[in-house]
Amino acid sequence: MSNKVVKFGGSSLADANQFKKVAAIIKSDDKRRYVVPSAPGKRFSDDIKVTDMLYKCCELASSGMDFSKDFQMIKDRYNGIISELGIDMSLDSEFDAIVKELKARPTKDFAASRGEYLNGKVLAKYLDFTFVDAADVIIFDTKGSLLLDDTVKAVRDKLKGLDNAVIPGFYGRTTEGFIKTFSRGGSDVTGSIIANAVKADIYENWTDVSGFLVADPRIVDKPDVIEVITYRELRELAYMGASVLHEDAIFPVRSAGIPINIRNTNAPEDAGTMIVSDDYNFSRESLSHTITGIAGKKGFSTINIEKAMMNNEAGFGMKVLKVLYDNGLSFEHMPSGIDTMSITLSTEKLDAVRDKVLADLRKAVAPDHLEIEDGIALLAVVGRRMKNTRGTVARIFASMAHARINVKMIDQGSSELNVIIGVSENDLPEAIRRIYDMFINSEKQ
Ligand code: ASP
Repeated sequence: MSNKVVKFGGSSLADANQFKKVAAIIKSDDKRRYVVPSAPGKRFSDDIKVTDMLYKCCELASSGMDFSKDFQMIKDRYNGIISELGIDMSLDSEFDAIVKELKARPTKDFAASRGEYLNGKVLAKYLDFTFVDAADVIIFDTKGSLLLDDTVKAVRDKLKGLDNAVIPGFYGRTTEGFIKTFSRGGSDVTGSIIANAVKADIYENWTDVSGFLVADPRIVDKPDVIEVITYRELRELAYMGASVLHEDAIFPVRSAGIPINIRNTNAPEDAGTMIVSDDYNFSRESLSHTITGIAGKKGFSTINIEKAMMNNEAGFGMKVLKVLYDNGLSFEHMPSGIDTMSITLSTEKLDAVRDKVLADLRKAVAPDHLEIEDGIALLAVVGRRMKNTRGTVARIFASMAHARINVKMIDQGSSELNVIIGVSENDLPEAIRRIYDMFINSEKQ
């Protein structure tokens, strides 16, 4: 039977009103059979997430302090949701068991996991779906790494014969029986694993935005939503700082060829963003800009090395890279000329060994000139269509030239999926706006 796995983030389940929207979304499509909830998130901007309240209780419990007041706030959140939804259930025995465990063995993972556990109980009751404890199906080894094969088998065994189920996100258990969570935001990962195990048609990830945006809305005014993005494009943008899904949520669905659809609980009519593999049928897409997204990141430096006849000196590059390697540095880009080479890398990492790296480079390659330039930002223009479109790079540089932005470095990946540009940090926002105008606004006209 075909099915969809639906994951709802914390803001989608922050109060009773949000629960109602979630239930309406699930009930409107009977393929939405497996539901993965997060813990109640923020109801307003300075609200506190239940997960954070639980971490606090654990901290107090670990230092032998009273946490009853803080725990009462957690109880109030759930009891408020239950009473407003008018469901006939009590979590009192669950609350007592959690308090008892926190007093006896205050472990962070157990504490944090209870947010999703309790929310799963409430949601299952409200939807009249079966509750399946993630501790029974999401399995980690003793070091805390997910055991995907064992997990998939456990999920399939448990869900066999169930028409629908609620499986709380974020946690599982180790083979030794201890509760273990993923890192923060990890309900995304649970949803992806469940989608893989049940061979879902699609993994819907419901949140509070209508998909990924072409550019950062703090820089570009009301940027467009990305309609379709490939996993590879997403990785490029995420690496450059675009805030997206939990990193580990990609692999389980990607390996099974299941698309992810990012949707908005507060605007369910919006199509959201589809994340798909390279062989997706793109003709279904309505909008085709040349580029998919733009992202930028500050905090880089370049090491500029000049030496006459560098190009003739065998092993020159190797010696330079060995210095970086010996100092534990990885680098982002390394464009070179006949007598010059420049290496872009993180300023923060470089700072720890800056003087030593300069001294080592002088010793290793005796450069004619050696300098470090700080305050560099990298900007990535990402798009699968760039490969087949002429003039893309020309348009990028024309837009920068019109804004009098000095380009310090360019690098086009061999896959032609992205163009990376180095600019001064001060120029980054304007550069992003200009490129957005050139490719998105002007292509609309
Ligand atoms: N509730 C957890 C967190 O706040 C996990 C999640 O929401 O995905 O990080």
